[in-house]
Amino acid sequence: MLTKWKKQSKKGFTLIELVVIMLALSILAAAGTASYNGMVIHFTERTCIDSRTEAAQSLVSACLQGELSVDVNAIETWLQNYPTKNQTNDSEHWEYDVQENNGKIQVEIRCRRHTDETVTRTISKPLG
Ligand SMILES: [Zn+2]
Repeated sequence: MLTKWKKQSKKGFTLIELVVIMLALSILAAAGTASYNGMVIHFTERTCIDSRTEAAQSLVSACLQGELSVDVNAIETWLQNYPTKNQTNDSEHWEYDVQENNGKIQVEIRCRRHTDETVTRTISKPLG
């Protein structure tokens, strides 16, 4: 009976083996969490850039269709009202830069959270 019990106890893990396994699992879990967070950050940044591109696109088409005058003040007002019109993700962190240069209006839409990419559009003022 005693010899049988001794044999069975050898099949189990030693404390050191358990510690090594726990350590390996915690490293794997940490690596998994880090890459997941990286994926989420990448995804939200992509969504933000897409939303800003969409905003720039609607701005340009509003100007082309004559719904919005090609004018620095009008465009700034339109952009400032855009986030409340469309409940897009982190649009409250967007910054706009509208400048007139040689009869053209340059629009930049940046994000304070996602500074890597700026969405830029140039709109020509109608002649006359
Ligand atoms: Zn953003």
